[in-house]
Amino acid sequence: MTASGISSHAVETFMSHERSHFIERNPKSRSLAERAQKSLYGGVPMHWMADWSTPFPLFVESANGARFRDVDGHEYVDFCLGDTGSMFGHSPAPVASALARQSTKGLTTMLPGEDAIVCGEILSERFGLPYWQVTATATDANRYVVRWARAITQKPVLLVFDGCYHGTVDDVMVRTQGDQTVHRSGLVGQVYDLSQYSRAIPFNDTDALEQALKQGDVCALLCEPAMTNIGMVMPDEGFMQKCRELTRQYGALFVVDETHTISTDIGGCTRLWQLDPDFFVMGKPVAGGVPCGVFGCSEAMSQAMQSAKARINQQSHGHGHSGMGTTLSANALAMHCMRANLEDVVNQSAYDHMLPLAKRLAAGFRDVIAKHKLPWSVTELGARCEFQFCQTPPRTGAEAEAAFHDELQMALHLYLINRGILITPFHNMTLCCPHTSVADVDKLVSTLDEALTSLLAIEG
Ligand code: PMP
Repeated sequence: MTASGISSHAVETFMSHERSHFIERNPKSRSLAERAQKSLYGGVPMHWMADWSTPFPLFVESANGARFRDVDGHEYVDFCLGDTGSMFGHSPAPVASALARQSTKGLTTMLPGEDAIVCGEILSERFGLPYWQVTATATDANRYVVRWARAITQKPVLLVFDGCYHGTVDDVMVRTQGDQTVHRSGLVGQVYDLSQYSRAIPFNDTDALEQALKQGDVCALLCEPAMTNIGMVMPDEGFMQKCRELTRQYGALFVVDETHTISTDIGGCTRLWQLDPDFFVMGKPVAGGVPCGVFGCSEAMSQAMQSAKARINQQSHGHGHSGMGTTLSANALAMHCMRANLEDVVNQSAYDHMLPLAKRLAAGFRDVIAKHKLPWSVTELGARCEFQFCQTPPRTGAEAEAAFHDELQMALHLYLINRGILITPFHNMTLCCPHTSVADVDKLVSTLDEALTSLLAIEG
């Protein structure tokens, strides 16, 4: 028996049945997967797309609102929503119109238009930080904020929480091992030691935070207000406020990455919990699924950025490169879509729809877990919730990771996929969008119930 309360034998038997079912059900995906092997490395346009629970990739034909259709004609209720990229629904109508409008008016010029100003104004009003920059992805936004933080403070070390993910930023690819910072496993082509300038500490550990900051070499703490990438981990009451207080006390910046937690409130956790960060990062859904990221900064930071830039320019005699920005950053298409999305899609009524649905889903998960007497728990935050294979919700990344039972997770996900439901891969997270219905939520709960009934019947 594993910690999840389900034996490997039961999971294997269950999974093997679901794999056959998937193969039978998806002949067109199978044929595309075979064709893709000849031109795409690993048979997919990005290698991790081959890491889902399915025996071969599920090929998508179209997506709209809370649903998508695969090439074999099956319809799915989507609780993954592109892992937040489509958290306000697939192809929101105002963004689709914006795409069409801008399509004949130039896609990229390396020059700004009025749309950018409107976006800056809305972002300032919504999140309370006065100045904004626009990037191509959230990964980029985090990378640039780390550069600014090092330039401003002239301190080298980035502090992150063990189990974090902030995109494919080199500096965050670290974990804790005992009280050491080590490389995250699986990194490809890592030739220099990331622990020189990055330090990882456990989430919800105020002492470790203070010890790490006390060393005096930390430029910034980069964190999500609640962890969402190693399973969900909620902050203890007051922990985020402590992060703000201690970073200020020890001269480090407080950077809040709300790329996922924007699902909590229209002003993010930043507004809801009054986090008062120095920098704020968001990406994925900000332009309705069109590639785009943003970061905002406080008045004090904008002045500090000016001073840092003046100092650096003097040293480079004006012939340098900031190391920030990609050619397509803030392109006309992305800016027009972001404007439409912020004006007409990401509004209070969207949150008023999503939040009660997520509550209903979390309650449904809890009922199913109780019914089957499993030692599992449910964590919820805004429109996002997750069931985890541990009795009490984890307080750190390490606790969340210890609750992983990959084979069980894959088997349950595949069972759901075979019955027209998609949840976020690699853990058990779900998101409700403005197009999700009560019936969709109830279908996920009842299908999980059926899955567990069959699984536990094998267990005997
Ligand atoms: N920050 C957080 C908190 C994320 O979860 C992610 C992606 N999962 C990113 C940043 C990076 O986003 P992107 O891959 O769009 O650059």
